[in-house]
Amino acid sequence: MLAPMGDLANLQGRVAGENAASANCVTFPGTIQTGMCKVFDYAAGSTGLSEAAARRLGYDDIVAVVSASPDKPGFMEGKLLVTKLVADRKTGAILGAQCIGPGNVARQIAQWAMAIQGRLTVEDVVNSDLPYAPPFSLAIDHGIAAAHILQNKMKGRLKGTSCREVMEKVKGGEKPFLLDVRSPEEFEQMRLGIGEMLVPLGALRRRLHELPQDKEREIICYCKISLRGYEAALVLEGNGWKNVRVMEGGIMSWPYPREK
Ligand SMILES: Cc1cc2nc3c(=O)[nH]c(=O)nc-3n(C[C@H](O)[C@H](O)[C@H](O)COP(=O)(O)OP(=O)(O)OC[C@H]3O[C@@H](n4cnc5c(N)ncnc54)[C@H](O)[C@@H]3O)c2cc1C
Repeated sequence: MLAPMGDLANLQGRVAGENAASANCVTFPGTIQTGMCKVFDYAAGSTGLSEAAARRLGYDDIVAVVSASPDKPGFMEGKLLVTKLVADRKTGAILGAQCIGPGNVARQIAQWAMAIQGRLTVEDVVNSDLPYAPPFSLAIDHGIAAAHILQNKMKGRLKGTSCREVMEKVKGGEKPFLLDVRSPEEFEQMRLGIGEMLVPLGALRRRLHELPQDKEREIICYCKISLRGYEAALVLEGNGWKNVRVMEGGIMSWPYPREK
């Protein structure tokens, strides 16, 4: 990959210097195109392959997931991160990660860059030993949580769909049943506004009769970050619905206008 970055220029300078001093003993191994930038209060970073780049390079069985969560607990003023993780389904190898948000994107991208260069798989990452204390991280780091969700997807526990796929279906006239399982207060503050139904997770089991009774009908569950959305999907599957998906990253990953 071409990656004309300042850190690589310096690393290559060191390699050139070492070779000059010690007779061509080292090589520069190349780059996985890690980089990040700041856009007002947001940071955006990327390392390795995007989903599209991986497909272009011939990976034909890719699994990807979008995950949203804070970088640290709320009582430590955690800020949101949204990560997309891309892996090769056959080998589990992590191919790429992109992260955006007002939270600590640099930590996430640095972790994923090392994981990719170390050729780690999703299985390797799900139990990584990273530093945790509330001022710095969640007990389950945002990136590890993303790997957990990807692992759930690879094992068939989670059937996900991206916000973009949902929007394409809505625009294309398909009518997936959209189920928001947040609280009425959260719904009041902000919602997708594209014909969704609100049934808070806590009330879902006693309000199942209000959902489409055609058990083949596609139902897409979500909440703020789709943790409750995932629980809702399990409740529905447990009650016989066969075509249930979770909108990955929830309403916080929705890249289109929302209703307030
Ligand atoms: C505004 C800006 C922001 C950037 N921010 C980042 C960042 O945040 N992170 C990051 O990783 N990268 C960043 N970069 C990129 C990074 O600065 C470059 O990739 C890096 O400096 C390249 O190093 P280099 O040594 O290859 O080339 P350069 O730093 O361009 O050095 C080349 C040198 O060769 C000299 N030169 C050219 N022609 C001749 C000649 N004929 N004879 C003698 N000398 C010559 C030039 O004067 C220059 O001093 C940024 C670049 C710009 C412009």
